[in-house]
Parts: sequence; structure tokens; C-alpha cells
Amino acid sequence: MRFETLAVHAGGEPDPGNGAMAPPIHLATTFRHGPAGEREAGYEYQREGNPTQDRLEAMLAALEGGAAALATGSGMAAMSVLLDSLPAGARVLIPDDCYTGLRVLAHEFLPQRGVSAALVDMADLDAVAAAARGGVALVWAETPSNPQLKVADIAALARIAHDAGALLTCDNTFATPALQQPLALGADVVMHSTTKYFGGHSDCMGGALVFARRDAFFEAVAHRRHLTGGILSPFNAWLTLRGARSLPARMAWHCRNARALAVFLEGQPAVEVVHYPGLASHPRHAVAAAQMRDFGGMLSVRIRGGREAALRVASRLKLFTNATSLGGCESLVEHRASVEGATPFSPQDLLRVSVGLEHPDDLVADWAQALGDGPASSAG
Ligand SMILES: *Cc1c(COP(=O)(O)O)cnc(C)c1O
Repeated sequence: MRFETLAVHAGGEPDPGNGAMAPPIHLATTFRHGPAGEREAGYEYQREGNPTQDRLEAMLAALEGGAAALATGSGMAAMSVLLDSLPAGARVLIPDDCYTGLRVLAHEFLPQRGVSAALVDMADLDAVAAAARGGVALVWAETPSNPQLKVADIAALARIAHDAGALLTCDNTFATPALQQPLALGADVVMHSTTKYFGGHSDCMGGALVFARRDAFFEAVAHRRHLTGGILSPFNAWLTLRGARSLPARMAWHCRNARALAVFLEGQPAVEVVHYPGLASHPRHAVAAAQMRDFGGMLSVRIRGGREAALRVASRLKLFTNATSLGGCESLVEHRASVEGATPFSPQDLLRVSVGLEHPDDLVADWAQALGDGPASSAG
């Protein structure tokens, strides 16, 4: 079955008991069993497993082409349960441009278990191979990356990781399986913040891990999720399932709008550079074109004039709301350096943009007025 068809049908089978076309939500925390713990339908306690989560996990595995999936309470819960399942003393490679939360885990929490993380430019395959020679348990890719939209060659990273005896994990939040399927390119685990495009409406947190194999490592991560409790609520599992049915359609629209905005911004004198993998000027455009179906709804832009100029543009945008997160219907903009804490990692002139589902002409017009010398500019 093709992706669009799977997205509508995987996990969405009519209720066998009553034919309901919308999947039911089972809120039960506990399930009847026999006097000696005999299970009736495989369930015992919600934290271990439940019918709504089963539907969501079947959908996630189907869309990523994996053997098994685990839903979690957030993207960070997915990341944590995976990294905490590595043996104490393990070494991991993480991207030099990545979701802030991963960098904080790597600096604050992993060392407490003797797990060390080396930051590597995942686009530089020689650098990755050299870093992997030191012995490594897991290579973490995030492509396109947050917030600089760096692109890493997933198939090449898989070869390097496997040659070193390591697993390759790919954070596929920005692309989603509608645009990129890391397991088919050799990755072992895909991680998602389903809070973003899967949910799609900025109203539902969640995370996921999808595994290429239902093996001992999968069982260890599933066991840890059960016992440490970072599960997804049935209600959020249901909202995520609901969002996934329209994922391919929404992604097509996000891509179209982001491309239109990226092309416009690239031609603006006030703009230093646009980071969007769909532009021919992107340094890894060819890699992106080879491993992605389309280039996504995220871009970032560096504004000439530094921090003050970037903040002025952010303050003048009207349709693009200043807010964190991404992947919803509404367009958002964020000066990342301002929200990254005491030691910001992002350049001070960078604005990250989540391009929503509005009409592209309205989105471009908003940037045109914000970059231009309209009346508000005298205030800045
Ligand atoms: C948001 C995000 C995360 C973290 O997910 P939460 O659902 O916020 O916990 C991880 N990776 C990427 C790329 C993200 O955008």
C-alpha cells in the first residue's frame, strides 16, 4: 500500500464490536483478569499497554516501515528512554546542530550514568567516521536538523555506525515519514516528537520510537518505558492517530508553502541566508533530494544586521506568531537564541520558521512587510 493509503487506514480499522468508523478511546487504567492473572485480551494495566496505544503504535510502525513502535508522553520521553537503555559507560555521537533538549541531556544527564556524548557535524562523513573509531554504541542523526536545517546522509551514516558496531537513530520529527523513511535507508531506530506534525494542531504532546527489528534492544526499551512510566495518555494517543490520517495531505501543503517562502526570502537584500533543503543553494541539497520526497515545512533565516535586526523582523510579523514548537496549522516564528537559556547555541541573527497551512501569498506578504521599511520600522 502507498503511504497516503496507509496513513488513512493503519490503526484506523472500524471497531470490531460495533463498527464505529472513528477509533474508540479506551481510558481504562485496569483490565479484568482471571484469579491467577489470566489475561482476557492481552491487557492488564494501562502503563504496560492499552488498546488505544496499540492502534497508534501499529500506525507508527506501518508509516515508518518498522517492526515495532513505542509511544511515549513526549519527544523528550522517547529520547530519554532510548538513551537510558544504553549500558552505563557507553559513548554516543550526537549532531552539532540538534534539538536543544538532546544537547542538554548529553551535557547534564548522560554523564551521570557515565555515558559520554561527542558533538559531530553529521554532514561531514569523515569526521563521523573518525569519531566512531573511538568506540561508539549509538550514532544520533537529526535530519533536517533543528534549527539550522543541516542535512545528513542517512544511508552513509548507517554504514559508518554499523561498521563501528553502533546503532543509528534518526530524529525524523522535521521530515516525518511522509517525506523521509530512515529505516529503509539503514537506520535502526526512528525517534519522533509527535507533538509536531503527527499531531499537527498544536494541541497534543507525544513522542515515539520506531524500531527496525523487534529484538532484545526493543524489549529492553519497552520494559524501561513500562517501569519508568513515560507513557502517552490514551486521549493523546487518540489525537495523534487522528492527526496522522491527514499527515500526507498536510505535509504536501507545508512543503509547498515553505518552498514559496524560502524562494521569496532568498531574494531579499535584508536576508543573509535562508536555510531550506529544497533550495539549490543549500549545501546538501543533493543529499536531501536523494533521500527525501519533498523538503518539509521548516526553514530558518539569518537577517542582516544581527540580533537587533532579527528581533525587529520577528516583532513586525503579523501572521507568523512568536512562539516555540512547530508543525501546527498556524505559522510560527522564533528567535531561538532568546529561548535557549544562558548559553544560546543558535546564531543571534537567526529566526526559525514553522510554515503553516495558510495561503502562501499571505505568508510571503507578511514577510515582505516585516522586512520592508513600513511605518513600524521607525520604532525599531
Ligand atoms: C520538539 C522536538 C523534540 C522534543 O519533543 P517534545 O515533544 O517537545 O518533547 C525533539 N526533536 C525535535 C527535532 C523537536 O522538534
